[in-house]
Amino acid sequence: MSEVNSDDVRQQHRYESLTWPEINEAVAQEKVIVLPVGSIEQHGHHLPLDVDSKLVGSVCDAAGARAPDLMLVMPTMSYGYCNHVMDFPGTITIQPVTFVNVLLDIARSVAYHGFKRIVIVNGHGSNYPLVEQAGRQTNLQTDALCCTLSWWQLVADYWNSEVRESGPGGCAHACELETSMYLAIDPAGVRRDRIRGALPRYVTDIPDGESWQWTDLTLGTGPASIIGWTSGYSDTGSFGAPELATAEKGDRVFAHAVDRLVSLARWLRGRPVEPRQDLHATPPTFPLPFGF
Ligand SMILES: [Zn+2]
Repeated sequence: MSEVNSDDVRQQHRYESLTWPEINEAVAQEKVIVLPVGSIEQHGHHLPLDVDSKLVGSVCDAAGARAPDLMLVMPTMSYGYCNHVMDFPGTITIQPVTFVNVLLDIARSVAYHGFKRIVIVNGHGSNYPLVEQAGRQTNLQTDALCCTLSWWQLVADYWNSEVRESGPGGCAHACELETSMYLAIDPAGVRRDRIRGALPRYVTDIPDGESWQWTDLTLGTGPASIIGWTSGYSDTGSFGAPELATAEKGDRVFAHAVDRLVSLARWLRGRPVEPRQDLHATPPTFPLPFGF
């Protein structure tokens, strides 16, 4: 008789809560692994350091609870890449190569154990190029499919067209969007009396800044990317319009993000792997020299 109750595993959405025999069952059930990745980073005078980790972890956990037969949510990778923010006390940074390698090791581990569909959901903008790199390497080095995105990509159209009030730049950092989400998830954590946002000085104080260099989580960025010390263009560390944040907006966008993440995981589970081909007429004479 099996020591594992399949239905119990089907109903469990937390990766770390399973035993190793139950992991075997979860692999057989073809669950999609969801890895939330955040940061511990300053978020202005009004939000705690854990914004990026808490928001992404909460969205992923709620999605897993909604569809436990589909998803297995891993503990949040709570630290991220924040070198440029180190002038603000409390921020923790992981060096870029280390960060990619940690994510890659996690993804390779679950792929090795048999999970062949992985979603890495990012919650900190500056992580994203590195998260994407970890996903690419997972796809090249394992037989799993790894999809990466930032959680606000799940809601951008909905947020922009139906919820947000601020103009371009209103949703950048500790902004209308992040503050609304935090108000929905943990209202006691928001220091409402200290909400004070602004556009970064590279937009307001430098000629033509509005044309070239601007940042918004859900509207995109200007064509000129110049990412220097955050303290050079802000005194508060909050960019955007957090004064427009409400818990009601946060509730709506949180629910939308959860719906979309469940849909994404369902799509990813059914998405086939496209097999690799070797198209050399003359076969290569040695293995790819990239260390894998
Ligand atoms: Zn943030």
